[in-house]
Amino acid sequence: MMIVMKPTASEADIQAVIDKIENVGSKAHSSRGEEVTVIGAIGHVEDEVHVAELGLEAYPGVDRVVPILKPYKLASKQFNHGKPSVLEIGGRRIGGEDFALIAGPCTVESRDQTLTTADAVAAAGAAMFRGGAYKPRTSPYAFQGLGQEGLRLLAEAKARTGLPIVTELMDTRDIEAVAEVADVVQIGARNMQNYTLLSEVGRSGLPVLIKRGLSSTLEELLMAAEYVLKEGNENVILCERGIRTFETAYRFTLDLTAIPVLKEMTHLPVVVDPSHAAGRRALVTPLSLAAAAAGADGIIVEVHPEPEEAICDGPQQLRADEFAAYAAQVERAAAVAGKVFTAAAAG
Ligand code: PEP
Ligand code: MN
Repeated sequence: MMIVMKPTASEADIQAVIDKIENVGSKAHSSRGEEVTVIGAIGHVEDEVHVAELGLEAYPGVDRVVPILKPYKLASKQFNHGKPSVLEIGGRRIGGEDFALIAGPCTVESRDQTLTTADAVAAAGAAMFRGGAYKPRTSPYAFQGLGQEGLRLLAEAKARTGLPIVTELMDTRDIEAVAEVADVVQIGARNMQNYTLLSEVGRSGLPVLIKRGLSSTLEELLMAAEYVLKEGNENVILCERGIRTFETAYRFTLDLTAIPVLKEMTHLPVVVDPSHAAGRRALVTPLSLAAAAAGADGIIVEVHPEPEEAICDGPQQLRADEFAAYAAQVERAAAVAGKVFTAAAAG
């Protein structure tokens, strides 16, 4: 249920509605727009009935009470007055007109590899630095990430370049360590439906980047976001990273249609990962340009100083010394969709 307040509603009117909703067991999430405040009454299905019975229409300051028809409530476009959300992360904006280029290695391997890559992407105007310290690997025998040591190297990269850090959390037991370094906690494709993990990062209040599961629908992706939002954490970024289809000529099929469709469904920013979708370096630039021109709010891309030597995902990582030329191309494509490359402004 969504309670739309009048532009003239006072703080006391808003608080009175919140109190009523919470008294019958639902949670009130308010979203303050430029003109009006909207209060979402979110709870179990039976709580919805209790909220409907309150007769909130008659309360001072209330304009109207409308049902949120989608199963995802707080993530729905309707809940944010039909407007896109703009998140601010370490001084970088993402969403609306602001485009963020997030770049860095697949995994943190060594001090030299991490800092060389961080310097290269910072110099080329990236908005944030990515790198995994905990890696979800298909094989349990493959390199699993440097863990705590990887986090320490990411902290060093951040201190040196000023770039906010995006890094993956796989296990709730590591949340405190990851939270010390991460400006954005990444939830990997394989964990998109790990609801305990999603609720926990929701409670941490840290910005979260959720990658679409390999075989997940957009509605399932939005329900994953809802797990974070329902904890009162509004800082959620969605990521299209390629899905499984019958096609075997490339690693995954990058679903570009997801960009405009998600923008109809949700107010949350949408970024695209061309690296994991493509699996091959030669495909990364064309897919990035297409994603930016289609209106993505950002790109998260893998970069390595020596991809031939990379411990994982070498064939798809861009070369660090070619990154500046790549970033310039992406910036032009983003402009086609009316987006400003905030990286350049913030860098
Ligand atoms: C990653 O971005 O490091 C990663 C493992 O991606 P995904 O979860 O999309 O496979
Ligand atoms: Mn990777």
